[in-house]
Amino acid sequence: MTTAKGAIFVVSAPSGAGKTSLVKRIVKDVSGITVAVSHTTRPKRDGDVDGKDYHFVERKEFEALIAAGAFVEHADVFGNYYGTSHAAIETCQAIGDDVILEIDWQGAKQVKQGLPETVSVFVLPPSKQVLLERLQGRGTDSEEVIARRTAEAVDEMRHLQEADYLLVNDDFEVAFTNFTAIITAVRHGTARQMLQHKEMIDELIG
Ligand code: 5GP
Repeated sequence: MTTAKGAIFVVSAPSGAGKTSLVKRIVKDVSGITVAVSHTTRPKRDGDVDGKDYHFVERKEFEALIAAGAFVEHADVFGNYYGTSHAAIETCQAIGDDVILEIDWQGAKQVKQGLPETVSVFVLPPSKQVLLERLQGRGTDSEEVIARRTAEAVDEMRHLQEADYLLVNDDFEVAFTNFTAIITAVRHGTARQMLQHKEMIDELIG
């Protein structure tokens, strides 16, 4: 059986949409799909693991990687560099997996330009009210910080029409089921199925 190179799914969303939880659930419960680990210059947060959540690097190192052509895409997101390396995607594809890139709209646009077969998915919160509640978090942040986060979220959502698929994350289980349906549909594309079932198809029509 010959297998096709894994598909690339790009997932974008404003913070507060629940994108990370959704992607974590996909990786846990859907076989044959992994997340490409991005590089970033943002400082580590509590619980962040280098090499797992991100490859944390200094700005100089990031700029050297840009100059060396290491990235499929990179962008300045809220003052820090973020980027997906060719190596991160190849690591996932080398084990035969489909790949998820959890990146912002600027990165999604670049990946789509370079690799048009990429499937992009945008995740939305169900309402402004829910978005605000999620952005307020533990209620310890100043009004100014929350206003900035809200403005950034709205800026991101203005790009929703650039995606191939739109998921509203109201009921988490429904959003998860719909996401798996997108993955299943992509896996049943004719070109991919023809590669996967080459011998059978040759026997049927060869
Ligand atoms: P955070 O720092 O909260 O993990 O992520 C902040 C934003 O950066 C999110 O919108 C996230 O999707 C985006 N991001 C994470 N990794 C990448 C990447 O490799 N490239 C781009 N363009 N954006 C990324």
